[in-house]
Amino acid sequence: MAKVLVFTETTGDSVKSVTLEILGKLAGHDIDVCAIGDIPAEGTKKLAEYGAANVHTLKGSGLDNYSPEGYANALQGFISSNGYDFVFAGSTSLGKDLFPRVAGMFDAGMVSEVTNFLFEGDNFSGTRPLFAGKCLAKVTVQGPKPHFVTVRPNALGLPDTPSAGAGNAADASVDPGTMRAIVKEIIKGASEKVDLTEANVIVSGGRAMKNAENFKILDELAETIGATVGASRAAVDSGYAPHAMQVGQTGKTVAPSLYIACGISGAIQHLAGMRTSKIIVAINTDPDAPIFTKADYGIVGDLFQVVPAMTKEFKALLG
Ligand SMILES: Cc1cc2nc3c(=O)[nH]c(=O)nc-3n(C[C@H](O)[C@H](O)[C@H](O)COP(=O)(O)OP(=O)(O)OC[C@H]3O[C@@H](n4cnc5c(N)ncnc54)[C@H](O)[C@@H]3O)c2cc1C
Repeated sequence: MAKVLVFTETTGDSVKSVTLEILGKLAGHDIDVCAIGDIPAEGTKKLAEYGAANVHTLKGSGLDNYSPEGYANALQGFISSNGYDFVFAGSTSLGKDLFPRVAGMFDAGMVSEVTNFLFEGDNFSGTRPLFAGKCLAKVTVQGPKPHFVTVRPNALGLPDTPSAGAGNAADASVDPGTMRAIVKEIIKGASEKVDLTEANVIVSGGRAMKNAENFKILDELAETIGATVGASRAAVDSGYAPHAMQVGQTGKTVAPSLYIACGISGAIQHLAGMRTSKIIVAINTDPDAPIFTKADYGIVGDLFQVVPAMTKEFKALLG
């Protein structure tokens, strides 16, 4: 049977949810998980709950903050010395940067950002959206092992009944090699909200928001239902929201359970970033807005009336 490693990132007091999604999909295999740096106790517990047999914490000097070279060198060394055949990670900002580097160091094949996959014995085949989500490609990896795969967060979903693994925790020392650039400090953005790419519920605003101040009504709805706020490019270009909030072809690709588009027309470049959302709700004054062709639920109306009314109803419902 193939030897499989899942690379995880930590977040707050746990690990990123996409790792648990991958573990759920790999159920039945003997899976090792690794992180660079400490994993919070709650995270190790969760990894075991979702099937990790062994949880490795990789430690080396200068790896406190993400370093593309340091992390890549460390991971390459760990993968080589343990002879993994397949290495999985979330297609997060870090995963997108790190995995192609490591695959390149091995001169090995890589499949990026799959939204689903089958893994039986030693055979991997995945599904990957192409051309802004207009079609799906079936992808496999060829050539010498290890093979690398990144998975889009929220695409697989968490298993209803995860099968647990032993979750044996072990430290491993790794060599970060020569790091030509050292990250001294990471200054986080003001928002403490869940990152857009991992959010389960997103409320997005478009040009119709008119100004940054008006995003407060989206913040209030988001706060009430536990959502993260996103924006269209028109809203970002107009200075209503920072680029980190942009959803779409030149922004973030998201796949939440619920996406509420407020005053967004539904241009193809916006749809490219959110069309794989499970349920799409659109609020727009124009009944012919293209977003309605993709929406599961559409509300033809003024967002400045509809959004506060929704917030009020949700507050009453959720207490
Ligand atoms: C190369 C390229 C890359 C791009 N990348 C992206 C990207 O990553 N993300 C992205 O979003 N766009 C992207 N765009 C831009 C994209 O083409 C659209 O211009 C943009 O998505 C439009 O944003 P919008 O829907 O907010 O604005 P608009 O198209 O102006 O739509 C505003 C909508 O609000 C509705 N409205 C107005 N008032 C109200 C109200 N009071 N209540 C409710 N509804 C109201 C209107 O009916 C309209 O449908 C890209 C374009 C190019 C060329």
